[in-house]
Amino acid sequence: MRLGCIADDLTGATDLALMLSREGMRTVQTVGVPDPDLDLSSAEAVVVALKSRTIPAKDAIEQSLDAARALQRAGAANFFFKYCSTFDSTDAGNIGPVAEALLSFTRSDFTIACPAFPANGRTVYQGHLFVNGVPLHESSMKDHPLTPMRDSNLVRVLQRQTALSVGLVSFEDVEGGPNDIRRAFDREKASGHRIVIVDALTDRHLRSIGAAAAELPLITGGSGVAMGLPEAYRGDATASSSAASHIEAPEGRAAILAGSCSSATRRQVEVAIRNGVPAFRIDPIALASGALAAQDVLDWIAAQGSDKPVLVYSSAAPDEVQDIQNRLGRMNAGEQIERLVAEIARALSQRGFTRLIVAGGETSGAVVGALGINALAIGPEIDPGVPWTRTLTGTDLALALKSGNFGAPDFFLKAWDLLRPSRQE
Ligand code: ADP
Repeated sequence: MRLGCIADDLTGATDLALMLSREGMRTVQTVGVPDPDLDLSSAEAVVVALKSRTIPAKDAIEQSLDAARALQRAGAANFFFKYCSTFDSTDAGNIGPVAEALLSFTRSDFTIACPAFPANGRTVYQGHLFVNGVPLHESSMKDHPLTPMRDSNLVRVLQRQTALSVGLVSFEDVEGGPNDIRRAFDREKASGHRIVIVDALTDRHLRSIGAAAAELPLITGGSGVAMGLPEAYRGDATASSSAASHIEAPEGRAAILAGSCSSATRRQVEVAIRNGVPAFRIDPIALASGALAAQDVLDWIAAQGSDKPVLVYSSAAPDEVQDIQNRLGRMNAGEQIERLVAEIARALSQRGFTRLIVAGGETSGAVVGALGINALAIGPEIDPGVPWTRTLTGTDLALALKSGNFGAPDFFLKAWDLLRPSRQE
């Protein structure tokens, strides 16, 4: 195995696995630290999905190091720490603390931090992160339920999370190509910086950064910066796309579970409802008071026609989320909803549902945990960063795990077209 990757949430892991597989690396995604019995011998890249984005920093460090050790035992030569392209974190971490711990683990003294993903509208210029052209702190990320991002200067954001000195490799260096970027790395290192935010506005920039960073024992960033790695590791520019255009899915019913409150997901919910998808809205206050339970949702689902996907969502606008958090507490509200959605997913998989779309990173983590899924094969891309996947062990399911902010407005409608029935034996 060439590249061992540790992702701080599940949808982010899938996004990275898709990027590596699209660029020609045989990639397997595991959910949690891989079981020693799982055969990874044919994989060139393994992406371990953790759920460590919003847990206490010391737990995130411990889990990330466990994953790194397992990947090293399985033969990983280089390591990649993947986080969200909107740099989702708080001043307590976990990007800085985990990057620090992995730097020590890889016995290296320098790494990059590059969340840019231009195909999804995430660009970094002079260290400032933009989301579809809007500075991060003005984007909908300022209202994220768990990691509100209120500063778009990533050098500042990361410096608040780590004792290591944070520097910047800016557009001027990146525009010059891989050699200029390598020189900028040397310059930053010589000035005492141990982690550098790297600007990127285009895929060309990402490929140059990939080429320059391929030799680093540790790279940190979004999935975008992995774009140039497969080619750099191969040492040539042979375009090799191994991503399939369809994925086989077991026969069965389909459901959409949305726990993300991001603007993209709220729009997707709206479009699905407008197009006649039967929808159940989870009321977090009713849930907390005991007036709503999983059985109520399951009874509602049972009463729907079986020909259409059903949609269950808790997605709400920022002012509503704020009100719910004031009444229930931020973490408590999130956890109660995640638990409910996970319980519904478990019940659905026992009732013949075999195709699930889950919207939200934390929400997807909760669902996959409840279903006991531990490894996924990567299928076709529905929208940038979101593939269909199929379980490699346990219950046979097709799953699309969508980071809240990803996907076009019609995502919930069009995703099903990429599924084909499984061939009969
Ligand atoms: P994203 O990918 O958009 O970040 P996540 O699923 O990671 O989505 O995070 C959304 C968090 O918000 C989850 O913990 C979820 O349970 C919580 N949540 C969902 N709906 C609501 C709501 N109506 N009020 C408060 N919190 C909510």
